[in-house]
Amino acid sequence: TEPVPSNPPEAAPSPAEIARHRELTETAAASLPDGFLAAGWTAPRSGRTFAVADPALGRPVAAVADCEPEDALLALTAANDAFPAWAATPTRRRADILHRLYQAMLADEERLAALITLEVGKTLTEARGEVRYAAEYVRWYAEEAVRSSGRSTPTPDGNWHIVTAPRPVGPCLLITPWNVPLAMATRKAAPALAAGCTAVLKPAELTPLTTLAFARLAQEAGVPAGVLTVVTTTDPAAVCGTLIADPRLRKVSFTGSTPVGKLLLRQAGAHVLRTSMELGGNAPFLVFDDADLDLAVREAVVAKMRLGGQSCVAANRFLVQEPVADEFAARLTEALTAIRVGLGTSDVDLGPLIDDRAVAKADRLVADAVAKGATLLGRAGAPGGPGSWFGPVVLDHLSADALLQQEEVFAPVAGIRRFRTEDEGVALANDTPFGLAAYLVARDGDRIARVAGRLDSGMVGINRGLLSHVAAPFGGIKESGLGREGGAEGLLEYQNLKYLAAPAL
Ligand code: NAD
Repeated sequence: TEPVPSNPPEAAPSPAEIARHRELTETAAASLPDGFLAAGWTAPRSGRTFAVADPALGRPVAAVADCEPEDALLALTAANDAFPAWAATPTRRRADILHRLYQAMLADEERLAALITLEVGKTLTEARGEVRYAAEYVRWYAEEAVRSSGRSTPTPDGNWHIVTAPRPVGPCLLITPWNVPLAMATRKAAPALAAGCTAVLKPAELTPLTTLAFARLAQEAGVPAGVLTVVTTTDPAAVCGTLIADPRLRKVSFTGSTPVGKLLLRQAGAHVLRTSMELGGNAPFLVFDDADLDLAVREAVVAKMRLGGQSCVAANRFLVQEPVADEFAARLTEALTAIRVGLGTSDVDLGPLIDDRAVAKADRLVADAVAKGATLLGRAGAPGGPGSWFGPVVLDHLSADALLQQEEVFAPVAGIRRFRTEDEGVALANDTPFGLAAYLVARDGDRIARVAGRLDSGMVGINRGLLSHVAAPFGGIKESGLGREGGAEGLLEYQNLKYLAAPAL
């Protein structure tokens, strides 16, 4: 087989660009609090720290506390001690604090965005978008907090009365991934705090900086000590395992990979702990022969390229109906190979991937696809040198057994497969253990309704490649998870429903 050509080399970032990048990101990192947050900011017992790297420069830029289980238990103790008073705090007061936090996040957009760019690599433009999106969850749940209610109904026999009352579940463990560190933190912490729960936040070890900045803002906005704590660690298995085994913990909410989610479900099962699981995806993007191809390509780029493909809802499998496949493939190739890759702080469309392992995985899946007969339609350039660089790739005629069909590539690789009939397209789309997002592009309204109804996924994007919205219940079915985040539904994940059997009124 032909060797897969590597990225055409682009000019490396200039010394001036690198200097500007370092100035921006390192100033932001220098503003962070020291230690981990339990009842207050404190050093871990071991005194150890771990390094956080900048994936664009391939060098460590900051050090954060490396907590052990004993440190995490201090945070849980603080969360448990703070719970009764926070649960009893009037919702209007909880909402006021969250509103202040929302304003503080917006006022601090530039610093938070620089931290996201520093630790994730994404462009400043995209990082600013994440800050606003993350802040929206805080505003949304400030609004939901005061609207939360139960119901009241007489029993049909008229003998008594049923009253339901949502109650906060208690101290929660919130585990977040590295790809959207701020938005994943607020999508969990905002509904938890709005519901009256306290929370221990455990950010991904690759991206703890933004979470620390967020926790400091929460403190300054008036979130009482212990209500929101943060534990950073290089040993998430030991830390989370210890917290989950502690009977004071009442809930675990996790966003991350399916294997870790399954492990946490087993651990939580042993204690009958409530769980929310936002796990991996393998999103199909279906293009039908009646599609508006301008729209199809535009939305395909959105669905593929948000976070450079490092998203659980990223389009992972392009399934295109035969009559339009050649044209769609050519136009998608044109769009993706025009993407400019470079430092997130420069005028580019895409930053580096999160680390060298991510680059190696993407290279492996591309090589596997080509070895199994796929055609390489195009490959965008990327800078060489230090940093985790990977330019977008488009592949056509993927074979059924290509790993790109089964695994999330989590990189800007678009693989196209063709289908003939609607039934075949739907069957291919559903041929995965995952069921998070699916996208379809078509004009015929009957076809749209038929296909959307038959896709096995928690979310379907119809003629659009962007699904995430604060008002929407985000979540999956099958091995993509349990529970929903966002919308009115997101609050329910942090509430137990108590029902009172009252005398007839
Ligand atoms: P990951 O599962 O490796 O890590 C996620 C988090 O879990 C991190 O905080 C990590 O420290 C922690 N963790 C790792 N091992 C653990 C253990 N044994 N016990 C407890 N915690 C542990 O995933 P990742 O590489 O950070 O993120 C990528 C994955 O997340 C992808 O599969 C992606 O699809 C998924 N994801 C899903 C959503 C969603 O909403 N469904 C959103 C973003 C990412």
